Amino acid sequence: MNHERFYITDETVIEHIVSTQKQYFYAQKTKSINSRIQALNKLRDAVKQNEQRIMDALKQDLNKSEVEVYTSEIGILLEEIRFTLKHLAKWMKPKKVKTALTHVGSKGKIVPEPYGVALIIAPWNYPFQLALSPLVGAIAAGNTAIIKPSELTPSVSRVIQELLAEAFDPAFVTVVEGAVDTTSLLLKQPVDYIFFTGSVNVGKIIMQEAGKQLIPVTLELGGKSPCIVHEDANLDLAAKRIMFGKGMNAGQTCVAPDYLLVHKKVKAQLVEKLREAISQFYGSNPLESDRYGRIVSERHFTRLVEFLKDGNAIVGGGYNKNTLTIEPTVLSEVSWTSDVMQEEIFGPILPMIEYETLDEVIHKVQEKAKPLALYLFTESEDVQNAITERLSFGGGCINDTLMHIATPYLPFGGVGESGTGQYHGKDSFQTFTHFKSMLSQTTKFDLSFRYPSEKQSLKMIKKLLK
Ligand code: NAD
Repeated sequence: MNHERFYITDETVIEHIVSTQKQYFYAQKTKSINSRIQALNKLRDAVKQNEQRIMDALKQDLNKSEVEVYTSEIGILLEEIRFTLKHLAKWMKPKKVKTALTHVGSKGKIVPEPYGVALIIAPWNYPFQLALSPLVGAIAAGNTAIIKPSELTPSVSRVIQELLAEAFDPAFVTVVEGAVDTTSLLLKQPVDYIFFTGSVNVGKIIMQEAGKQLIPVTLELGGKSPCIVHEDANLDLAAKRIMFGKGMNAGQTCVAPDYLLVHKKVKAQLVEKLREAISQFYGSNPLESDRYGRIVSERHFTRLVEFLKDGNAIVGGGYNKNTLTIEPTVLSEVSWTSDVMQEEIFGPILPMIEYETLDEVIHKVQEKAKPLALYLFTESEDVQNAITERLSFGGGCINDTLMHIATPYLPFGGVGESGTGQYHGKDSFQTFTHFKSMLSQTTKFDLSFRYPSEKQSLKMIKKLLK
């Protein structure tokens, strides 16, 4: 199928899509709690009724297994919708605030209001969930939404387009398929919010374009997320949980452990346990396993295979160009200056560097951009405190990987180069909401000391504002 024939590259068409959504928004059709609940229910039903279609598309684009699709794409989205429906009424309520002494007679409240038209730009690695999970927040907060899925996963992009076209009026929610040209046109439009998930480099372009119109943005980016294994770690569990995080979607996960920092004393043992975990999860030949994903494109495959030269593949190292698969691989003898340690790997290769002191680890991580995630395996509370207090990162886990992003109770996002803003659960609602401060003044009396006059007393003002 020629997917590009669905791409919109005509500016007037894009302008029309945005202006139609603006009109729909100004017609107040998205704001009532009933309309938001109805839309979320529709979205949930559309996903449930099309489960097989979604699974087939993800198989085709990324060879994702049905279990992986359910846990990391469909199930997580349904859970987000369920959680949002349960709490939405409470989140939407205006919040009364206290009245300051200087404001006697008035009442203050914070009123959540939607921004308007939200533009959601999604990546290819969890192409379904990362397009629709922000949509849950956008709808819950009362916005209209335009979704631009990734062109690198064309089957999923098509399914998202079809599914949302069946469920929604395009003046409310619509999908614009396309690549860079289309996205560039969308970025010129006067939308009210931009929610971007993708790479650091493209994130910079998005922020620059948004800045031209001062459009608020959320940037969910990536980077090199370290995984530290201390000498007192439970190595059996560490190995399994590290491979769970690195093996999922063949390492093409924004919060995958990017590289391992392992204490010298436990390095050899950990390597053996990682080898066991891989064979337990994917059998003796992961390249043939239907539980193991493939690399998204030939370009990414070639980029990853190049990294294998940066160390010694003590576990794995095999690959198949025809199927675009690379074995889960542990690379030893890696230097901090090698290529594999410069950019986000985004594949199943795990470089390993040993350390002797925690200070060494802290200084090295501090030299790099603040990561999206950090994982630490240790039984010691002192070590846990030292790492979490001294290092800045988006979020992370102690004695686990990835799991912090799968709960609606924890906000998810980066810091510095790994992103701006956060979402999931209540934070998704807040992200797509402007909190309007309203003060309602009494007309029953009027305190005259605030007005310029001869009687205005500085002494009195100083008493109030100290
Ligand atoms: P990407 O930045 O290449 O693409 C993301 C989106 O931007 C796509 O829809 C693409 O069409 C569009 N795009 C690409 N180039 C563009 C340009 N020049 N101008 C305008 N739009 C452009 O990212 P990707 O390769 O799809 O995804 C991988 C990256 O995303 C990794 O860095 C990963 O860490 C990150 N990521 C982050 C999260 C998160 O939640 N923080 C989740 C998944 C992926």
